[in-house]
Amino acid sequence: MSVHPDQPHLYVAPVLRPLSPRRAEYLTDHAILVERGKISAVASAASFAGSPGLRRIVLEGQMIMPGLTDAHLHLAQLDAVALDGHELLDWLEHHIFPAESALSHEELARDTARRFFAELTEGGTTAAAIYTSLHENACHIAFEEAERSGLRAAMGKPLMDTGGPYSESTGEAISSMTRLFRRWHGAGEGRLQFAVTPRFALSCSDGLMAAAGRLARDNGLLVQTHMSENLDEIRAVRERFPQHSSYGAVYDHFGLMGPRTLLAHCIHLTEDEKRLLAEREATVAHCPRSNLFLRSGMMHVRSALQNGIRVGLGTDIAAGPTTFMPDEMRAAIDVSKARYALDKSANGSAAEPLTPEETLYMATAGGADALGLHGVRGRLLPGEEADFIAVDIQSLHPQGGPPGFRLPERPLLSRFIYRATPAMITGVWVRGRRLKGENPPTATH
Ligand SMILES: [Zn+2]
Repeated sequence: MSVHPDQPHLYVAPVLRPLSPRRAEYLTDHAILVERGKISAVASAASFAGSPGLRRIVLEGQMIMPGLTDAHLHLAQLDAVALDGHELLDWLEHHIFPAESALSHEELARDTARRFFAELTEGGTTAAAIYTSLHENACHIAFEEAERSGLRAAMGKPLMDTGGPYSESTGEAISSMTRLFRRWHGAGEGRLQFAVTPRFALSCSDGLMAAAGRLARDNGLLVQTHMSENLDEIRAVRERFPQHSSYGAVYDHFGLMGPRTLLAHCIHLTEDEKRLLAEREATVAHCPRSNLFLRSGMMHVRSALQNGIRVGLGTDIAAGPTTFMPDEMRAAIDVSKARYALDKSANGSAAEPLTPEETLYMATAGGADALGLHGVRGRLLPGEEADFIAVDIQSLHPQGGPPGFRLPERPLLSRFIYRATPAMITGVWVRGRRLKGENPPTATH
């Protein structure tokens, strides 16, 4: 049966969605109505009985959740995952810069981009903030493949002009950034946006950071960069910018710190930097697996939240081993529990670790807010664009659980975070278009 794309689709399944950083709700016997790529209603399935012209799709044994947002990862590092044995600066030299520079070959760049977006789709990531490689052409290819994938992406070429084999001239960095912005910002009917991407303060000259800040400010663009990941890195930033009071103050000086700024890591923030990030309404992309892998540290997320800093989650491949967001949610909780245990044994008291609800919020609503992608809010509310996933509930339980087994809502979220695998993500939709799985044949009512 051919279906007109504008025909309203009713997806019948329980709905799990975040209400606030502290609360999520699980709506049994519900359905979401999708019309012209948007959610027009979320209500009890019974309330749609008798509505004419709906294509009714019953997602048997599954639940619907918002699409997941990855606030930080590197497309060009896809094939350099899980190469253990280094801290940040050594790891970049040994593994990452060579891997990224290989993408000057167009065939490899295209193959890498295709597999990258396929990985995201498989795991239920519907939007992501992405770094490509230094090569302008590889970045064009990445945008082409992002457009083809149907996903949402904020993406930019890392800015690097401070010398060495893996950098370019300031003029070339600025002109290619400007060309990429003009060609791709708002493409894919608004699904794609160009992100201004100074790799980090040490890779950019003052002139390049100033130009990046101007382009971002003049056009309201997302800025993504790394900050305060590693103690050697912070020391090197202090040596290069003695006139600035902190790492964060460097970015602020060049106009790179604002409500559309996404800062990966921020493990070792000073009290002044915490205040600065909160004042500027910047978002931290917390990448706990990457931070452990590169021995960078354990970010104190509770302290950031208590200081009013917005936080999203990033898988940060290749320092994170996979692009699967539930693994990052689990790691965020694990790291906060490790901090809790350490602080408690040292001081007799400690800040509460993160909850499943908080990491759900970071991976959905928080990430969507940080990326500022057109019409997406990660909350599954009427009026939002219809980006959502379906999850096989039964397979979250060991061997499917006993016959007729049903968990109440809170353990279900917890089971999702601790036990989900990409195979359990049975459907992925962006703007109402299905990108993973197929709709079962159904009758039109
Ligand atoms: Zn990174």
